[in-house]
Amino acid sequence: MKTDKSERLFTEAVEIIPGGVNSPVRAFQAVGGSPRFIDRAEKQYIYDVDGNEYIDYIGSWGPMILGHKNEQVQVAVQEAIDKGLSFGAATEIEVEMAKLICDIVPSIEMIRMVNSGTEAVMSAIRVARGYTARNKVIKFEGCYHGHADAMLVKAGSGVMTSGVPDSAGVPAGCAEDTLTAVYNNLESVEKLFVENTGEIASLIVEPIAANMGVILPQEGFLQGLREICTREGALLIFDEVITGFRLQLEGASGYFGIKPDLITYGKIIGGGMPVGAYGGRKDVMQVVSPVGAVYQAGTLSGNPVAMRAGITQLRILKDHPEIYRKINGYGERLRSGLRDLVKKYEIPCVVNGIGSLSCIFFTKEPVVDYVSAKTSDTIMFGRYFNHMLNKGHYIGPSQFEAIFLSAAHTEEDIHRFLEDAEEFFKQC
Ligand SMILES: *Cc1c(COP(=O)(O)O)cnc(C)c1O
Repeated sequence: MKTDKSERLFTEAVEIIPGGVNSPVRAFQAVGGSPRFIDRAEKQYIYDVDGNEYIDYIGSWGPMILGHKNEQVQVAVQEAIDKGLSFGAATEIEVEMAKLICDIVPSIEMIRMVNSGTEAVMSAIRVARGYTARNKVIKFEGCYHGHADAMLVKAGSGVMTSGVPDSAGVPAGCAEDTLTAVYNNLESVEKLFVENTGEIASLIVEPIAANMGVILPQEGFLQGLREICTREGALLIFDEVITGFRLQLEGASGYFGIKPDLITYGKIIGGGMPVGAYGGRKDVMQVVSPVGAVYQAGTLSGNPVAMRAGITQLRILKDHPEIYRKINGYGERLRSGLRDLVKKYEIPCVVNGIGSLSCIFFTKEPVVDYVSAKTSDTIMFGRYFNHMLNKGHYIGPSQFEAIFLSAAHTEEDIHRFLEDAEEFFKQC
């Protein structure tokens, strides 16, 4: 595979952009090699600047659930562009977007748009603190909630492979009110509530952890969190930046039948444009400025072009429930195929996943939390990654990322993926 141009660009990039990338997960530090520079995308494919074609299993880390360049989304965005790029004033499309989401997700009574998942989480935490007049927040080890100061404690994803558990530049004071519990372990949560009675504003969780690989909540875990938060007067926040509109249209709260007090969104909600949102109970959301005392703002929030992309994608998903049957079915196929291979070649691997989110961990242990995820052999993952990349499968360049499927993937793609994975396992 020819990669001269990517390599040349990377050499230039590292001189003027930290690590050569505008987001750490794009670098190939965890797997070796230099990142491919992408030129364009179409359906399930992405193409790099050297003209190589890959089947894309990242989908921009989730947003491209319909595949790349969905015709309806492209046309809608072009129409929006024709009307102007940004007004900094209220628009009709923002009302339509809010209505659509309130319609789709039963626990969202009021919602506010922002520009990223990070912003959504940062704002939801502020709202929870404002509403409860308490300061402390519980998060789980290995869950990633964006890069706001208070959330960079035991965060997963890019932070997990960089070898820096917490970030420099975050004053101790910003993180001291962030308490960490163990995923799938209600006792660890109970303990924090006992030690901090009456001080915990909220508990934030990825209802399916997808930033330390993919880890499913065990039976009763999310329900237990709901009960504890209700009992203690803390707000339960589901961070559905990945699961929202992916697991099923109603996201994880719909799938598990649990009503969080607030939900954060990002990724899919923007259809490939920079959008995030947070919403939930009306009495809680009414603390937000200009109605209430919690300040939160954004010059480009609710941007008309971004809203048009997001709403068009959401409407397609709403009108076509068969999309979920398709991508979830392919997810099942991929996981069962990988499990068969792992068994056949006696590879110490665990395959986790649900719906269109999957992950193969190079470890023998069941992966249920951060500690078990960290037992994975990341060197082995790096070899697997590079093998798959050279065969034309573009998966996340880290052990701790999910494989994302889109409606543009085909049975043939899954078949090819498994065939090429088999070649790797055979020589292991
Ligand atoms: C990606 C992600 C975020 C951060 O979103 P950005 O748009 O990258 O700021 C927050 N929470 C979860 C669960 C995510 O996966």
